[in-house]
Amino acid sequence: MRIPLSAIEEFSFNRPPAYKQELLNAGHRVANELEIEAAICATIHVHFPPDGSSDGGRPPDPSLSELALNFLTATARWAKAGFPLRTEAETSQILTICRGSADGLQPACPEWLGDALIPRCRRCGCTALKPWLVTEKCPMQKW
Ligand code: SF4
Repeated sequence: MRIPLSAIEEFSFNRPPAYKQELLNAGHRVANELEIEAAICATIHVHFPPDGSSDGGRPPDPSLSELALNFLTATARWAKAGFPLRTEAETSQILTICRGSADGLQPACPEWLGDALIPRCRRCGCTALKPWLVTEKCPMQKW
């Protein structure tokens, strides 16, 4: 995958300096972009989380660039694994963990932005599509 160097600058602003250096060392530059293996990029991204001291320890919401990168990384990981999908029952079970149950007996995850224009997880930005992909998991280990 390729990431614009400008996006790396944006991702770096609230992360340790080593984050940017690790990314640059792990890939190679092609014009104004960094070419890097999606899995390596994702690992470095997770290894250096943004500072999260502004809201009781909660990390700041991902920026649009981060959401786009998360999406690209997830798609690349899924493609590399051969496009495996969860069953409808498995996906439905996961969506209940995120969105809560229709009968209200199981509350929605506090990270689920159900009222957003595009309902999604605040942590990773995933929509109701991500649980279909076998290669994806909850950033808070709930599934
Ligand atoms: S943190 Fe996990 S369980 Fe909660 S909304 Fe995000 S993906 Fe779903």
